[in-house]
Amino acid sequence: MSGLEDLYREIVLDHYKSPRNRGELEPPAVRAEGLNPLCGDEVVVFVDLDGDTVRDIRIGGQGCSISQSSASMMSAAVKGKTLAEIDELTHAFKALLTIHEHTHDGEETFDHPTVKLGELEALRGVVKFPTRIKCATLSWNTLAEAIGQALGGTAP
Ligand code: ZN
Repeated sequence: MSGLEDLYREIVLDHYKSPRNRGELEPPAVRAEGLNPLCGDEVVVFVDLDGDTVRDIRIGGQGCSISQSSASMMSAAVKGKTLAEIDELTHAFKALLTIHEHTHDGEETFDHPTVKLGELEALRGVVKFPTRIKCATLSWNTLAEAIGQALGGTAP
């Protein structure tokens, strides 16, 4: 298990040190800003929609390693995806962060078997630190806000 935790730590650090899709997009791309005052995290999300597909995404902001690496992973995970796929990913990711690991026998079951989280699973360790869950979900909530704006103020 510690081998897996090391791998997860490596993935999170890699995204923190070399954030993906860093930068800005010009209008008509939309911009949304998310703040997590508990930790001082700021995430800015730029989204360019092509119909119901995220054609491009850029991330700005600053904050702790969890918030910034989560934003980087989120951007890599949703780029080129449809809004329906992103909706599934968002639910699966949030479900991952609400799994309670109190059982000692066997693996936890995961109720979104059709959604592959890939690297996003590296953030599951955050579950053990409830105050950091907001750091991990900040970029996803900001993405939802940006998509809502892109759709003309109506949430999907
Ligand atoms: Zn944070």
